[in-house]
Parts: sequence; structure tokens; C-alpha cells
Amino acid sequence: MKDLTPNSWEARAEGASLYGFTDYPTLAERGTTVLARGEGPYVVDTDGNRFLDANAGLWNMVAGWDHRGLIRAAQEQYERLPGYHAFFGRMSDRTVELSEKLVEVSPFERGRVFYTNSGSEANDTLVKMLWFLNRMEGRPEARKILTRVNAYHGVTAVSASMTGKPYNDVFGLPLPGFIHLTCPHYWREAREGESEAQFVRRLARELEEVIAREGADTIAGFVAEPVMGAGGAIPPAEGYFQAVQPILRKHGIPLIADEVITGFGRTGEPWGCESYGFTPDAIIASKAMTAGYFPMGAVILGPELADRLFAASAEFTDFPHGFTASGHPVGCAVALKAAEVILEGADGDEPLIENVRRTMPLFAEGMDRLARHPNIGEARYRGTMGALEAVADRETKAPFAADLQVSERIANACHDVGLICRPLGQAVVLCPPFIMTPAQFDEMFGKLEKALGSVFDAVA
Ligand SMILES: *Cc1c(COP(=O)(O)O)cnc(C)c1O
Repeated sequence: MKDLTPNSWEARAEGASLYGFTDYPTLAERGTTVLARGEGPYVVDTDGNRFLDANAGLWNMVAGWDHRGLIRAAQEQYERLPGYHAFFGRMSDRTVELSEKLVEVSPFERGRVFYTNSGSEANDTLVKMLWFLNRMEGRPEARKILTRVNAYHGVTAVSASMTGKPYNDVFGLPLPGFIHLTCPHYWREAREGESEAQFVRRLARELEEVIAREGADTIAGFVAEPVMGAGGAIPPAEGYFQAVQPILRKHGIPLIADEVITGFGRTGEPWGCESYGFTPDAIIASKAMTAGYFPMGAVILGPELADRLFAASAEFTDFPHGFTASGHPVGCAVALKAAEVILEGADGDEPLIENVRRTMPLFAEGMDRLARHPNIGEARYRGTMGALEAVADRETKAPFAADLQVSERIANACHDVGLICRPLGQAVVLCPPFIMTPAQFDEMFGKLEKALGSVFDAVA
């Protein structure tokens, strides 16, 4: 057990704060890391320890922790108009500008944007939009939502129902009408002797069967992350979206890309759907949209859904939905700046997405190198997001005994040498900020390699 000095930051954290998604035994043993400031891709705790954050916070702090342009954009907007809503026919000028910008950088020729404070709320909003639309268009039974096992879409009651993780059972979720299809993870889900193409065909057949069983006219939408994030950084099997999209089209079921992680450059293209060669009917954005400098999410509807929602709202006289801080002017100013910083290049700097593209091969090389360790079963990645999956036996892909807590141990060993990376199941997830230099990639993989070696020596 960690011995807490009275009145230390750690003791005070434990005295009055609650923790989400935190392993309580590890907390009891190691205490809270209380952060005080950041520099580039590093964060510094209240004891002055520096950590390279290989997860960019929670996938979102892609411009690091001291980006002057983003900080200035927020400061200037706080001086001009520090807050406003987007109800009753009013919205800030920055909100108008951001909607234009998001449609411009989206894969859609035209579209419309609705704002939330988070990715979870954006997914909730999307589902309510589909429910509203279908009712207004005379199809009140079209309510079911299809997602996949291991998908992560958030934590509100609806977005947690979309999430395909077993822990939601503790809340009595999912709600009825949320259906989870097979995770498109070839390495883990394929049957003995099944090729990747056969695996994808099996998943397509499953989708057809579920639609036939449930009735196409009861299904409101199919929501998918182009690369699964919190489910374990899982890129889909080759050809997956090309196999499912025609089936959805045939049955008139919208395909929504949850791009909360993959949006704004993570996969080397502005959107993950572009990396995977498909155009969805709507996009969910958050996280990197403000580079983590403001809490904000958005539903970006493509032309067809935008027209239908606009028409249905006009007919009902209202779309009765929205958050007090939807389209917050400071969030919009920060997001406008983030789009410029990441995709276009701001203040004479190259666009951050250029650095992502340049360093993707370094990321791939480092992952492939660590994958040679006999206790790594799979290195999977796309762009600069990925995971290393620990296994007790490479041949059988058998995981380590759960009570060994292998990935927690690896993350803790990394922490002790100044690297933050996240345990997820038996995998360790990496998704560094977009500003990483080659030397920082070396630091990240070097520290991770040492941590893996020491943990596997202890448990294998
Ligand atoms: C993080 C995440 C969400 C939820 O976003 P919050 O801002 O945490 O509510 C939704 N979808 C995906 C793909 C995410 O990674």
C-alpha cells in the first residue's frame, strides 16, 4: 500500500475526488499522479516528474500541452464573447465559421453540423436525430442501432449502450434495441484456417442475417469507428467497410463513422474513413477537434441526412435537443484554430498532419520491432495509433492469467521510467501527439521496450 503523506497532492486527491476508469487496486498501491503542467508532448506532475505521454492524454492532446496558437485563440475569444448558446435562433459568429470549416474539411460536398460538449453526447445526439427523423417520416419502429463488440462510443446511457464492452452490464446496459455484431479483428476473431477475405465475408453474412432477423425497417443506423480505439486500437480486417457498406445501402440503413479518435489526422488522412476508402452518411467528431484544449463534440451530417433533418425539424417547428454550451464560442474558436493547425498549417508552421505522415513509418518500425518479442502476439496499428497485444503463448494466442495484470504492470513499469501508456485488456495502447520528433519516438519505444522486457522476465 502506498503510504500517503498527509496534505500531499496524492492524499488530497484521494480525500475528495472520485475516479473514472481507474483500477482501484493499482490506485491503492501506487497512488494518484497529480499533474501540474505540460511542455510539448510531456506532462509534469506536482513532484516535478516528467512523462512523455504516449497516449496524448486520452487520444486528444495532439498538439501537445503548450501550443501558443491554440492558447491565444482561446484567450482572444474569452476577451470578445466568452460564452453563448445556440438556441432560439441565435449562435455566435465563431459557431457559424466553425460549421462552414467542418463541412469544408469533411468528406461531404455539403452538410450541417450540430454541437455537443463531448463525443458521448455527439453519439447520443446522432441516435436521437435518427429516432426523430424516422418518427417524423412515418417510420416510428426504425429505432435499433447496430454497432460492434469492442466498439467504444461513450458513457452516457445511449452511447454506453452502443459501446460493446462487457463492463456496461454492471449498469444493466445495453438498453433494448442496441445490437452488437462481431468485432472485425482478424487476428483474434478468425476461425481456424479462415483467410482474411473469408473472415470479412462471414462478417458481411452476419450483418445480412441480423438485418433479416430484426427487419430492415426496425433499424435506424449502423455506427462504427474506422479504427476501434478504446476497444484496443483495432484496425478492421482488410475490405471490411467495402463489404458492409453495400449491404447497409441496399437496406437503406445509414452508416455513421464515429471519428472521435480517427478524425483530424490520426490515421494520416483528415478522416479515418478516407484512409479506409469509404464515405459515411454522417461523422461523429470530438477529441482532436479542439486538440483537447476545450470540451467539444460534433455531429456532422452528410447531404442526405442534413436535408432530411432540416425538413423534419421545420415540419415539427423545432428540433427539441441541444446543450447549454452547444457551439460554445470559445470551443468554436479553439476548434477553428485546431483545424488550421492540424490540417492547413498555422502561423507559418507546417500542418501537423504532415508530421503524422512523416513519422508513421517510424511508428510502424517501432511497433514491428517490439512485436518480435516472444510474448507479443500482435502489433496492430494505423497511422500513429496502435497496440501491442501481450500473450503467454504466441502459437495458441493464449493470454496471460488475468490476475497477473500484465498490461497494468507494463504501464506501471513505463510510468516508473517517465512514459505514460495505457493498458487495455492485455494490450498496451500507443497514440502519441502529432508533434513528436524522431528522437521522441526513440525515447517512447526505448522505454517501452525496457518495460516489456522487465515485466515479461517477471511473469513469463
Ligand atoms: C472517447 C470516445 C467517445 C466518447 O467521447 P467523450 O468525449 O469521452 O464522451 C466516443 N467515441 C469514440 C470513438 C471515442 O474514442
